[in-house]
Amino acid sequence: MTHAGLYCTPGAFYVDPNTPVARAVITHGHGDHARCGHGVVLATRETLAIMASRYGDDHARTVQPLGYGEPLTIGDVRLRLVPSGHILGACQVVLEHNGQRVVISGDYKRRRDPTCPAFEAVACDVFVTEATFALPVFCHPPAEGEIARLLGSLRIFPDRAHLVGVYALGKCQRVLGLLREAGYDRPIYLHGALKPLTDLYQSFGLEFGELRSIAEEAKDDLKGEIVLCPPSALGDRWTRRLPDPLPAVASGWMRVRARARQRGAELPLILSDHADWNELLQTLDDVGAPEIWVTHGEEQALIYAAEQKGFKAIALDLLGREEDDGE
Ligand SMILES: [Zn+2]
Repeated sequence: MTHAGLYCTPGAFYVDPNTPVARAVITHGHGDHARCGHGVVLATRETLAIMASRYGDDHARTVQPLGYGEPLTIGDVRLRLVPSGHILGACQVVLEHNGQRVVISGDYKRRRDPTCPAFEAVACDVFVTEATFALPVFCHPPAEGEIARLLGSLRIFPDRAHLVGVYALGKCQRVLGLLREAGYDRPIYLHGALKPLTDLYQSFGLEFGELRSIAEEAKDDLKGEIVLCPPSALGDRWTRRLPDPLPAVASGWMRVRARARQRGAELPLILSDHADWNELLQTLDDVGAPEIWVTHGEEQALIYAAEQKGFKAIALDLLGREEDDGE
């Protein structure tokens, strides 16, 4: 651990550093993991494209794309990236040195996501894990059921525009994918702030059916339609344009009533891109690492539970980690 975050000494690089560094390996495009101003950035092609979309092509001096599973040697360290199931391009970083294997999982989930490959459990000696939802109260319901609740509400309130607050990177596209999988074939309306990253997902071959920009539509045309917007836009003036909007929010935090109220969500949808309590514990068993390093979230609860299971667990107290913007 350094002031800039996790540092791999034999490879001379940081993983997800929170300040500009000479050489960084980035697990995924969310703002608290991918920052601009590094010298060399190694990441998946998808993550590099997300960083370029958010920060501009000059976000780093040099970029080095690496596909899932492709081996690479940096200094004395063998490195490969494997899927973490979090968002498009998200990876775990697998490091091998002197017969020891460390896996830095970044953010991850174990549920299926139509927009990215599934989490891959890699047996290791040290497993670095997040702890965003590491409390027993966090038990995410099946995503399909939450989407069914949204579609059920549309049937009950056919005259109301259903306005769903979603994070621009990951949650938006996952909700689009889940709606299409559920057989919803109406056009889906997008707030302008969601368009650039959704275009980016489409450029990587993901298909979301017919999407329309919200600005193009007259008020009455949006009765009974689904409109996606950033959560911060739910209370904005532009929503007055919509017919009797019904505010929903899709986030893992919607399990917490106070959060749902605070966001103004009449229809809270519990849709998380992070592992829940049981999945965190299951993952510790799946990777079987005798030593667990816990990064951000509810560290103490996870450390306690890991110790009960016989693992050695420590908190890393990473600096500069705010609440993930992809919760
Ligand atoms: Zn994230």
